[in-house]
Amino acid sequence: MRFTRRDLGKLAALGAASRLVAQEEKPFRYCIVGLGRISMQHFMPATKMSKHCRVTAMVTGHREKADKLMGEYNVPAKNIYSYENYDSIANNPEIDAVYIALPNGMHSEYTVRAAKAGKHVLCEKPMANTVAESQAMVDACKKANKKLMIAYRCQLEPANLRAIQLIRDGKIGKVQAISTVNGFNIRAGEWRITKKLGGGGPLMDMGIYSLNACRYLTGEEPTGDIKAYSATIDQDGRFKEVEESTSWTMKFPSGALATCSTTYGANQPGEFTVYGSRGVLRMENAFGYQGQHLIARPQGEPVIDFSPDEKDPAHFPRLADHLAEAVLQNQPLKASGEEGLQDMKLIAAIYQSAGRA
Ligand code: NAD
Repeated sequence: MRFTRRDLGKLAALGAASRLVAQEEKPFRYCIVGLGRISMQHFMPATKMSKHCRVTAMVTGHREKADKLMGEYNVPAKNIYSYENYDSIANNPEIDAVYIALPNGMHSEYTVRAAKAGKHVLCEKPMANTVAESQAMVDACKKANKKLMIAYRCQLEPANLRAIQLIRDGKIGKVQAISTVNGFNIRAGEWRITKKLGGGGPLMDMGIYSLNACRYLTGEEPTGDIKAYSATIDQDGRFKEVEESTSWTMKFPSGALATCSTTYGANQPGEFTVYGSRGVLRMENAFGYQGQHLIARPQGEPVIDFSPDEKDPAHFPRLADHLAEAVLQNQPLKASGEEGLQDMKLIAAIYQSAGRA
Protein backbone atom coordinates (compact mmCIF):
# COMPACT_ATOMS: atom_id res chain seq x y z
CA MET A 1 0.00 0.00 0.00
CA ARG A 2 1.30 3.49 -0.90
CA PHE A 3 0.75 6.48 1.34
CA THR A 4 0.74 10.09 0.28
CA ARG A 5 2.29 12.69 2.62
CA ARG A 6 -1.25 13.77 3.44
CA ASP A 7 -2.21 10.19 4.44
CA LEU A 8 0.86 9.97 6.66
CA GLY A 9 0.00 13.29 8.28
CA LYS A 10 -3.51 12.03 9.00
CA LEU A 11 -2.18 8.76 10.41
CA ALA A 12 0.27 10.60 12.67
CA ALA A 13 -2.55 12.79 13.94
CA LEU A 14 -4.73 9.74 14.53
CA GLY A 15 -1.88 8.04 16.44
CA ALA A 16 -1.39 11.06 18.63
CA ALA A 17 -5.12 11.31 19.24
CA SER A 18 -5.44 7.63 20.17
CA ARG A 19 -2.50 7.95 22.60
CA LEU A 20 -4.25 10.88 24.19
CA VAL A 21 -7.48 8.89 24.48
CA ALA A 22 -5.56 5.93 25.93
CA GLN A 23 -3.89 8.20 28.48
CA GLU A 24 -7.23 9.69 29.34
CA GLU A 25 -8.80 6.26 29.72
CA LYS A 26 -5.92 4.69 31.67
CA PRO A 27 -7.22 4.62 35.22
CA PHE A 28 -5.16 5.60 38.24
CA ARG A 29 -5.08 2.42 40.31
CA TYR A 30 -5.18 2.43 44.09
CA CYS A 31 -4.25 -0.30 46.54
CA ILE A 32 -6.26 0.25 49.74
CA VAL A 33 -4.19 -0.34 52.89
CA GLY A 34 -6.48 -1.00 55.87
CA LEU A 35 -10.15 -1.88 55.43
CA GLY A 36 -11.70 0.25 58.18
CA ARG A 37 -14.38 2.89 58.40
CA ILE A 38 -12.81 5.62 56.28
CA SER A 39 -11.65 3.34 53.49
CA MET A 40 -14.74 1.11 53.21
CA GLN A 41 -17.43 3.77 53.82
CA HIS A 42 -15.87 6.78 52.14
CA PHE A 43 -12.74 6.39 50.03
CA MET A 44 -13.50 3.17 48.16
CA PRO A 45 -17.07 4.20 47.15
CA ALA A 46 -15.66 7.61 46.15
CA THR A 47 -13.33 6.05 43.59
CA LYS A 48 -16.47 5.03 41.65
CA MET A 49 -17.43 8.74 41.44
CA SER A 50 -13.91 9.90 40.60
CA LYS A 51 -12.71 10.94 37.17
CA HIS A 52 -9.57 8.82 37.02
CA CYS A 53 -9.46 6.25 39.80
CA ARG A 54 -10.12 2.58 40.43
CA VAL A 55 -9.43 0.21 43.30
CA THR A 56 -7.29 -2.65 42.01
CA ALA A 57 -5.80 -4.11 45.21
CA MET A 58 -6.32 -4.31 48.98
CA VAL A 59 -4.18 -4.94 52.05
CA THR A 60 -5.89 -6.33 55.12
CA GLY A 61 -5.37 -8.47 58.20
CA HIS A 62 -8.96 -9.77 57.82
CA ARG A 63 -9.17 -11.69 54.55
CA GLU A 64 -12.96 -12.05 54.89
CA LYS A 65 -13.38 -8.26 54.58
CA ALA A 66 -11.52 -8.27 51.27
CA ASP A 67 -13.47 -11.31 50.05
CA LYS A 68 -16.69 -9.34 50.52
CA LEU A 69 -15.37 -6.33 48.60
CA MET A 70 -13.60 -8.10 45.73
CA GLY A 71 -16.71 -8.53 43.59
CA GLU A 72 -17.93 -4.98 44.12
CA TYR A 73 -14.62 -3.46 43.02
CA ASN A 74 -13.63 -6.14 40.54
CA VAL A 75 -10.37 -6.87 42.37
CA PRO A 76 -8.78 -10.24 41.50
CA ALA A 77 -7.79 -12.58 44.34
CA LYS A 78 -4.10 -12.26 43.40
CA ASN A 79 -4.30 -8.56 44.33
CA ILE A 80 -5.32 -9.14 47.96
CA TYR A 81 -2.36 -8.73 50.32
CA SER A 82 -1.74 -9.15 54.04
CA TYR A 83 0.43 -6.86 56.18
CA GLU A 84 3.13 -9.52 55.98
CA ASN A 85 3.40 -9.82 52.18
CA TYR A 86 2.62 -6.09 51.60
CA ASP A 87 6.10 -5.41 50.20
CA SER A 88 5.38 -7.64 47.22
CA ILE A 89 3.07 -4.94 45.80
CA ALA A 90 6.40 -3.90 44.24
CA ASN A 91 5.88 -6.68 41.68
CA ASN A 92 2.34 -5.64 40.80
CA PRO A 93 2.08 -3.30 37.81
CA GLU A 94 -1.68 -2.95 38.44
CA ILE A 95 -1.00 -0.64 41.41
CA ASP A 96 -0.03 3.02 40.89
CA ALA A 97 -0.55 4.27 44.43
CA VAL A 98 -1.51 3.15 47.92
CA TYR A 99 -4.16 4.79 50.11
CA ILE A 100 -3.05 4.40 53.75
CA ALA A 101 -6.08 4.26 56.06
CA LEU A 102 -4.48 2.62 59.09
CA PRO A 103 -4.22 3.95 62.66
CA ASN A 104 -1.90 6.98 62.84
CA GLY A 105 0.96 5.07 64.47
CA MET A 106 1.21 2.78 61.40
CA HIS A 107 1.22 5.49 58.69
CA SER A 108 4.95 6.02 58.61
CA GLU A 109 5.97 2.37 58.30
CA TYR A 110 3.43 1.61 55.56
CA THR A 111 4.27 4.77 53.62
CA VAL A 112 8.01 4.07 53.70
CA ARG A 113 7.38 0.46 52.59
CA ALA A 114 5.13 1.70 49.74
CA ALA A 115 7.77 4.14 48.55
CA LYS A 116 10.37 1.36 48.58
CA ALA A 117 7.94 -0.72 46.52
CA GLY A 118 7.85 2.09 43.95
CA LYS A 119 4.29 3.33 44.61
CA HIS A 120 2.87 6.82 45.11
CA VAL A 121 1.16 7.42 48.47
CA LEU A 122 -2.05 9.08 49.62
CA CYS A 123 -1.85 8.90 53.42
CA GLU A 124 -4.60 9.77 55.89
CA LYS A 125 -4.14 12.56 58.41
CA PRO A 126 -2.39 13.02 60.78
CA MET A 127 0.50 11.87 58.61
CA ALA A 128 2.17 10.06 61.54
CA ASN A 129 2.64 10.12 65.31
CA THR A 130 5.80 12.24 65.38
CA VAL A 131 7.91 14.71 63.41
CA ALA A 132 10.67 12.11 62.98
CA GLU A 133 8.25 9.54 61.52
CA SER A 134 6.82 12.21 59.20
CA GLN A 135 10.26 13.27 58.03
CA ALA A 136 11.09 9.63 57.26
CA MET A 137 7.99 9.46 55.03
CA VAL A 138 8.95 12.61 53.12
CA ASP A 139 12.52 11.37 52.71
CA ALA A 140 11.50 7.87 51.53
CA CYS A 141 9.10 9.22 48.89
CA LYS A 142 11.64 11.75 47.70
CA LYS A 143 14.32 9.04 47.42
CA ALA A 144 11.95 6.79 45.45
CA ASN A 145 10.84 9.74 43.29
CA LYS A 146 7.21 9.07 44.28
CA LYS A 147 4.53 11.56 45.27
CA LEU A 148 3.32 11.76 48.86
CA MET A 149 -0.04 13.41 49.51
CA ILE A 150 -1.76 13.81 52.89
CA ALA A 151 -5.55 13.45 52.83
CA TYR A 152 -6.44 17.04 53.79
CA ARG A 153 -9.78 16.87 52.03
CA CYS A 154 -10.92 20.35 53.24
CA GLN A 155 -8.20 21.93 51.10
CA LEU A 156 -10.10 20.70 48.03
CA GLU A 157 -13.64 21.38 49.32
CA PRO A 158 -15.65 24.22 47.64
CA ALA A 159 -16.83 26.13 50.77
CA ASN A 160 -13.39 26.11 52.39
CA LEU A 161 -11.91 27.22 49.06
CA ARG A 162 -14.48 30.02 48.81
CA ALA A 163 -13.60 31.18 52.34
CA ILE A 164 -9.91 31.31 51.39
CA GLN A 165 -10.72 33.26 48.21
CA LEU A 166 -12.92 35.80 50.04
CA ILE A 167 -10.11 36.46 52.52
CA ARG A 168 -7.47 36.75 49.76
CA ASP A 169 -9.78 39.15 47.87
CA GLY A 170 -9.86 41.37 50.97
CA LYS A 171 -13.63 41.02 51.41
CA ILE A 172 -13.37 41.15 55.21
CA GLY A 173 -10.28 43.36 55.36
CA LYS A 174 -7.19 42.37 57.32
CA VAL A 175 -7.58 39.19 59.35
CA GLN A 176 -7.37 40.12 63.03
CA ALA A 177 -8.48 36.92 64.76
CA ILE A 178 -9.67 33.38 64.10
CA SER A 179 -11.52 31.16 66.52
CA THR A 180 -12.08 27.49 65.74
CA VAL A 181 -13.18 24.27 67.46
CA ASN A 182 -13.48 20.62 66.47
CA GLY A 183 -14.11 17.62 68.70
CA PHE A 184 -16.34 14.70 69.63
CA ASN A 185 -17.15 12.52 72.61
CA ILE A 186 -15.04 9.39 72.13
CA ARG A 187 -16.02 5.85 73.08
CA ALA A 188 -13.84 3.82 75.42
CA GLY A 189 -11.54 1.27 73.82
CA GLU A 190 -10.75 3.10 70.56
CA TRP A 191 -7.18 2.92 69.19
CA ARG A 192 -7.37 6.74 68.95
CA ILE A 193 -6.92 7.04 72.73
CA THR A 194 -3.78 4.90 72.83
CA LYS A 195 -0.40 6.60 72.65
CA LYS A 196 1.03 3.92 70.35
CA LEU A 197 -1.65 4.06 67.63
CA GLY A 198 -3.21 7.51 68.17
CA GLY A 199 0.03 9.34 68.91
CA GLY A 200 -1.78 11.83 71.18
CA GLY A 201 -5.29 12.96 71.99
CA PRO A 202 -7.89 14.92 70.00
CA LEU A 203 -5.27 17.33 68.66
CA MET A 204 -3.93 14.55 66.41
CA ASP A 205 -7.34 13.53 65.13
CA MET A 206 -9.65 16.57 65.27
CA GLY A 207 -7.63 19.62 66.31
CA ILE A 208 -5.43 19.10 63.25
CA TYR A 209 -8.34 20.32 61.08
CA SER A 210 -8.45 23.63 62.99
CA LEU A 211 -4.68 23.92 62.89
CA ASN A 212 -4.52 23.32 59.16
CA ALA A 213 -7.47 25.71 58.58
CA CYS A 214 -5.72 28.56 60.41
CA ARG A 215 -2.79 28.10 58.03
CA TYR A 216 -4.84 27.96 54.83
CA LEU A 217 -7.17 30.79 55.88
CA THR A 218 -4.35 33.19 56.70
CA GLY A 219 -1.93 31.82 54.10
CA GLU A 220 0.75 32.27 56.77
CA GLU A 221 2.83 30.09 59.06
CA PRO A 222 2.49 30.72 62.81
CA THR A 223 5.41 32.19 64.68
CA GLY A 224 7.16 29.83 67.07
CA ASP A 225 5.69 31.02 70.36
CA ILE A 226 2.58 28.85 70.64
CA LYS A 227 0.77 28.82 74.00
CA ALA A 228 -1.28 25.75 74.91
CA TYR A 229 -3.09 23.89 77.68
CA SER A 230 -4.18 20.27 77.87
CA ALA A 231 -6.67 18.95 80.41
CA THR A 232 -8.62 15.85 81.36
CA ILE A 233 -11.91 16.30 83.21
CA ASP A 234 -13.46 12.84 82.82
CA GLN A 235 -11.69 10.34 85.06
CA ASP A 236 -13.66 7.43 83.61
CA GLY A 237 -10.67 5.45 82.40
CA ARG A 238 -10.72 6.64 78.77
CA PHE A 239 -7.82 9.08 79.08
CA LYS A 240 -5.04 7.09 80.73
CA GLU A 241 -2.62 7.53 77.83
CA VAL A 242 -3.67 10.74 76.07
CA GLU A 243 -5.26 14.03 77.08
CA GLU A 244 -9.01 14.68 76.82
CA SER A 245 -8.80 18.30 75.59
CA THR A 246 -6.26 20.75 74.22
CA SER A 247 -6.61 24.47 73.55
CA TRP A 248 -3.94 26.67 72.03
CA THR A 249 -3.27 30.14 70.65
CA MET A 250 -1.08 31.02 67.70
CA LYS A 251 0.25 34.29 66.36
CA PHE A 252 0.92 34.85 62.65
CA PRO A 253 3.55 37.19 61.18
CA SER A 254 0.78 39.64 60.06
CA GLY A 255 -0.30 39.87 63.73
CA ALA A 256 -3.43 37.74 63.23
CA LEU A 257 -4.21 35.68 66.35
CA ALA A 258 -5.86 32.25 66.38
CA THR A 259 -7.54 30.56 69.34
CA CYS A 260 -8.26 26.88 68.84
CA SER A 261 -9.87 24.15 70.90
CA THR A 262 -10.30 20.41 70.51
CA THR A 263 -11.73 17.69 72.74
CA TYR A 264 -12.62 14.00 72.99
CA GLY A 265 -15.00 14.82 75.86
CA ALA A 266 -17.86 16.70 74.14
CA ASN A 267 -19.47 16.96 70.75
CA GLN A 268 -17.96 20.09 69.28
CA PRO A 269 -19.04 20.42 65.61
CA GLY A 270 -16.15 21.74 63.56
CA GLU A 271 -16.37 25.45 62.83
CA PHE A 272 -14.29 28.57 62.35
CA THR A 273 -14.96 32.30 62.52
CA VAL A 274 -12.57 34.76 60.94
CA TYR A 275 -12.77 38.35 62.21
CA GLY A 276 -11.44 40.91 59.76
CA SER A 277 -11.03 44.68 59.94
CA ARG A 278 -13.94 45.07 57.48
CA GLY A 279 -16.19 42.14 58.20
CA VAL A 280 -16.57 38.63 59.52
CA LEU A 281 -16.71 35.20 57.93
CA ARG A 282 -18.04 32.07 59.57
CA MET A 283 -18.11 28.43 58.49
CA GLU A 284 -20.43 25.95 60.16
CA ASN A 285 -19.69 22.26 59.81
CA ALA A 286 -16.36 23.38 58.46
CA PHE A 287 -14.62 20.01 58.51
CA GLY A 288 -17.41 17.41 58.17
CA TYR A 289 -17.76 15.10 55.17
CA GLN A 290 -20.49 17.36 53.79
CA GLY A 291 -22.88 20.14 54.83
CA GLN A 292 -20.44 23.07 54.94
CA HIS A 293 -22.19 26.42 55.37
CA LEU A 294 -20.33 29.66 54.82
CA ILE A 295 -21.69 33.07 55.81
CA ALA A 296 -19.58 36.15 55.14
CA ARG A 297 -20.64 39.63 56.19
CA PRO A 298 -18.38 42.13 54.45
CA GLN A 299 -18.94 45.67 55.80
CA GLY A 300 -21.35 47.67 53.63
CA GLU A 301 -21.88 44.80 51.19
CA PRO A 302 -24.53 42.09 50.81
CA VAL A 303 -24.20 38.98 52.95
CA ILE A 304 -22.60 36.02 51.16
CA ASP A 305 -24.35 32.77 52.05
CA PHE A 306 -22.83 29.70 50.40
CA SER A 307 -23.34 25.96 50.73
CA PRO A 308 -21.95 23.52 48.17
CA ASP A 309 -24.41 21.44 46.19
CA GLU A 310 -25.34 18.51 48.46
CA LYS A 311 -25.36 16.23 45.42
CA ASP A 312 -21.71 17.09 44.77
CA PRO A 313 -19.77 14.24 46.42
CA ALA A 314 -17.20 16.83 47.34
CA HIS A 315 -14.48 15.39 49.44
CA PHE A 316 -13.24 11.89 48.71
CA PRO A 317 -13.51 11.74 44.89
CA ARG A 318 -11.60 15.02 44.82
CA LEU A 319 -8.92 13.54 47.08
CA ALA A 320 -8.51 10.45 44.94
CA ASP A 321 -8.40 12.48 41.71
CA HIS A 322 -6.03 15.10 43.08
CA LEU A 323 -3.17 12.64 43.49
CA ALA A 324 -4.09 10.99 40.17
CA GLU A 325 -3.89 14.32 38.35
CA ALA A 326 -0.67 15.23 40.12
CA VAL A 327 0.86 12.01 38.78
CA LEU A 328 -0.84 11.68 35.36
CA GLN A 329 -0.62 15.36 34.43
CA ASN A 330 2.41 16.26 36.53
CA GLN A 331 0.41 18.81 38.53
CA PRO A 332 1.64 20.19 41.87
CA LEU A 333 0.12 18.70 45.03
CA LYS A 334 -1.86 20.96 47.35
CA ALA A 335 -1.36 18.78 50.39
CA SER A 336 2.10 17.33 50.06
CA GLY A 337 4.13 15.44 52.64
CA GLU A 338 5.86 18.72 53.55
CA GLU A 339 2.44 20.26 54.28
CA GLY A 340 1.64 17.40 56.67
CA LEU A 341 5.11 17.66 58.21
CA GLN A 342 4.55 21.34 58.99
CA ASP A 343 1.38 20.46 60.95
CA MET A 344 3.28 17.77 62.81
CA LYS A 345 5.96 20.30 63.83
CA LEU A 346 3.24 22.64 65.10
CA ILE A 347 1.52 19.81 66.96
CA ALA A 348 4.85 19.04 68.66
CA ALA A 349 5.14 22.72 69.65
CA ILE A 350 1.56 22.74 71.00
CA TYR A 351 2.19 19.63 73.09
CA GLN A 352 5.47 21.05 74.32
CA SER A 353 3.74 24.22 75.50
CA ALA A 354 0.91 22.23 77.08
CA GLY A 355 3.45 20.20 79.03
CA ARG A 356 2.75 16.93 77.22
CA ALA A 357 5.52 15.68 74.96
P1 NAD B 1 -10.70 2.28 61.71
O1 NAD B 1 -10.38 1.81 63.08
O2 NAD B 1 -12.11 2.22 61.24
O3 NAD B 1 -9.81 1.47 60.64
C1 NAD B 1 -8.46 1.17 60.86
C2 NAD B 1 -8.05 -0.01 59.99
O4 NAD B 1 -6.72 -0.37 60.35
C3 NAD B 1 -8.92 -1.25 60.19
O5 NAD B 1 -9.12 -1.88 58.95
C4 NAD B 1 -8.07 -2.13 61.08
O6 NAD B 1 -8.34 -3.51 60.90
C5 NAD B 1 -6.68 -1.79 60.57
N1 NAD B 1 -5.62 -2.11 61.53
C6 NAD B 1 -4.46 -2.74 61.24
N2 NAD B 1 -3.71 -2.90 62.32
C7 NAD B 1 -4.40 -2.39 63.35
C8 NAD B 1 -4.14 -2.27 64.73
N3 NAD B 1 -3.00 -2.71 65.28
N4 NAD B 1 -5.08 -1.69 65.50
C9 NAD B 1 -6.20 -1.19 64.97
N5 NAD B 1 -6.51 -1.27 63.64
C10 NAD B 1 -5.61 -1.86 62.85
O7 NAD B 1 -10.14 3.76 61.60
P2 NAD B 1 -10.58 4.92 60.59
O8 NAD B 1 -11.58 5.78 61.25
O9 NAD B 1 -10.88 4.36 59.27
O10 NAD B 1 -9.22 5.78 60.55
C11 NAD B 1 -8.10 5.36 59.79
C12 NAD B 1 -7.23 6.59 59.49
O11 NAD B 1 -7.99 7.51 58.74
C13 NAD B 1 -6.75 7.36 60.73
O12 NAD B 1 -5.46 7.85 60.50
C14 NAD B 1 -7.72 8.53 60.82
O13 NAD B 1 -7.16 9.67 61.43
C15 NAD B 1 -8.02 8.78 59.37
N6 NAD B 1 -9.34 9.37 59.17
C16 NAD B 1 -9.45 10.40 58.32
C17 NAD B 1 -10.67 10.96 58.08
C18 NAD B 1 -10.80 12.08 57.08
O14 NAD B 1 -11.85 12.66 57.00
N7 NAD B 1 -9.78 12.37 56.29
C19 NAD B 1 -11.79 10.52 58.76
C20 NAD B 1 -11.66 9.43 59.63
C21 NAD B 1 -10.42 8.86 59.82
